[in-house]
Amino acid sequence: MSDMDSLFLRIIARELPADIVFENDRLIAIRDINPQAPTHVLVVPKKRYRNAAELAAADPQLLAELITTAHDIAAQAGIAESGYRLLFNTNADAGQTIFHVHLHLLGGEPLGGLTG
Ligand code: 5GP
Repeated sequence: MSDMDSLFLRIIARELPADIVFENDRLIAIRDINPQAPTHVLVVPKKRYRNAAELAAADPQLLAELITTAHDIAAQAGIAESGYRLLFNTNADAGQTIFHVHLHLLGGEPLGGLTG
């Protein structure tokens, strides 16, 4: 496992710092270090799956919890009504850089078209 692969595991283990928004036994939510919108949070299962499809196949309930957690964070940030975007990048063409599945929550301003 490369450093980039294990980045979230190291954050979960408190070996690296992060701005933690929410945490429970199953997942952690942290602010993205390079935010692409006023609210940019990554919701990450503590168990490592490479991508959303692997997570969906192994634990659909946890996938659903990622989504409901992202909604709760959006609501707390006051952007659930104005709107937000959830996305998973999968592999190189999508720009996935960390091969530990993470749900991006983006919002806090009009986000433009699907490709930003
Ligand atoms: P991906 O491109 O894999 O979908 O998303 C990876 C995200 O992780 C990027 O948006 C990037 O800015 C973020 N990121 C990379 N390194 C760190 C870090 O050390 N801490 C935090 N909080 N986010 C990071």
